[in-house]
Amino acid sequence: MKKTLTLQLSPEEAYNPDSFKLAVLKASGLTSDTENAFARQTKRSIDARGRRVKVNVEAELFLNEKPGSLLDHFSEYPNVRTADPLIVVGAGPAGLFAALRAIELGIKPIVIERGKDVRTRRRDLAAINKEGIVNPDSNYCFGEGGAGTYSDGKLYTRSKKRGDIRRIMEILVAHGATEEILVDAHPHIGTNKLPVLVAKLRESILEAGGEILFETRVEDFILEGGELCGVVTQQGDQIKGLGVILATGHSARDIFHLLDRRKILVEAKPFALGVRIEHSQNLIDRIQYHCDLDRGPYLPASSYSLVQQTDFRGKQRGVFSFCMCPGGFIVPAATAPGELVVNGMSPSRRDSKFANSGMVVSVELEDLPEYQKYGSLAAMNFQADVEKKAWELGGKTQVAPAQRMVDFVNGKVSASLLDTSYQPGLKSVDMRDVLPGFISARLAMAFKAFGQKMKGYFTNDAQLIGVESRTSSPVRIPRDRETFEHPQIKRLYPCGEGAGYAGGIVSAAMDGERCAEKLIEAYAKSKV
Ligand code: FAD
Repeated sequence: MKKTLTLQLSPEEAYNPDSFKLAVLKASGLTSDTENAFARQTKRSIDARGRRVKVNVEAELFLNEKPGSLLDHFSEYPNVRTADPLIVVGAGPAGLFAALRAIELGIKPIVIERGKDVRTRRRDLAAINKEGIVNPDSNYCFGEGGAGTYSDGKLYTRSKKRGDIRRIMEILVAHGATEEILVDAHPHIGTNKLPVLVAKLRESILEAGGEILFETRVEDFILEGGELCGVVTQQGDQIKGLGVILATGHSARDIFHLLDRRKILVEAKPFALGVRIEHSQNLIDRIQYHCDLDRGPYLPASSYSLVQQTDFRGKQRGVFSFCMCPGGFIVPAATAPGELVVNGMSPSRRDSKFANSGMVVSVELEDLPEYQKYGSLAAMNFQADVEKKAWELGGKTQVAPAQRMVDFVNGKVSASLLDTSYQPGLKSVDMRDVLPGFISARLAMAFKAFGQKMKGYFTNDAQLIGVESRTSSPVRIPRDRETFEHPQIKRLYPCGEGAGYAGGIVSAAMDGERCAEKLIEAYAKSKV
């Protein structure tokens, strides 16, 4: 027998399995010694609005019956070794999920990735952190699993396509993520678990007969009469296929230059830029969970989401928190020497003593009049200039410029900086020298407002670390709304975050699946 319950539980009841089972039995009018009873959670969300934190849980109780699997959508992959090939450029979430979907549909993917496999990639991350050496093909953005591999692994998206989201989550669970990601309202995986999962996705592709080429950078396209027949790698190899899914991410500036040079239509796109803010996690917990000392043994590290409209010189722009990483670390996410970019990641337990979040300002193209001369690459060049400035003012290594929060608002260089999770280290500077004036002014307005929304947030016990500039792609590669094909170039499928159609791991994975479906649909039509 199965019974479904909606419960409001204490943190201990929600997060301690024994206490949870007791709470479910009690709510069902059963005693704690009831035999053959299994309880599980199917949905869980924290409600911290009141003085006491509660956890809303949807649960299932099974009596004399074992719970079935939570996976409805996942099935085995067919063998595609001898099938026609399509090309996927980039092994980020978009590329990997495009490849898996192609396999499901009976087509062989050839995935081409400039970076290294997840394990080998680790050494290059150590070199950035310890020696400040940035490998332009292997870093926090480039390599197997893409930008999402060494991240917090947050799996939420603003998309309302619940069925599609569930599919992605189930594929992740089938490849090693815990079933908790199907339950939590704000699921995440963690940087310690993501590489293992990414390696399993690779195994599925290879076992089914797909190919993955690492350390292979696409440098040119094979164009024949307005059709994209394949790509050319840095070794000069030509690889041809039914079509090309271009999923190279928001940091592949060489790909944007290539498209522009080959006169393939791309467009400048608004994006967002700012800094990362680091507080102690304990301070954020005390604000969010209204506790005096700490969050206690059961509650997860708390997060926040903030947004503020700001008016500067008569123009309204949003300032918002981005990719908040509770219990996490700030990492150097540059993709080339001579630039400084920060981002955040967290381990699965989110147990570092720091809370960090991007805090970024929306940048519209009209905010960049001096960059209009760069046409479709205007926003990208603006982004690159700010990153270069940060690198210069940090001391031309991966040491990042930083300033305490109240000092920044008051225009005062900090006499000392706080302890940080950012491994390469920090240098005290006036962040207004790093950031363009319109960004600094809006950030300062927003920080004060955030202090009103979250009492204690606006404090000199927090610091700004810059710059957070890779929030979304500064370039869009257009595509037809129906067919997903580029409007000028047949068989080119711009995909994922770099093309401007996703923002985050799950939405990139969903877009990868859609692109594979559209390409294969067009191929099937062309054969009849
Ligand atoms: P990418 O993941 O950027 O993948 C593109 C791939 O293409 C890369 O592997 C790259 O090496 C490859 N490539 C580029 N150029 C070429 C070329 N010329 N030839 C061959 N290969 C090429 N999102 C979340 O949802 N949750 C998070 O918690 C989160 N945390 C993040 C933390 C960090 C540190 C970073 C950097 C990003 C984080 N993100 C997070 C964002 C997320 O990673 C991206 O939204 C997502 O990875 C985009 O997927 P994608 O496949 O479109 O592109």
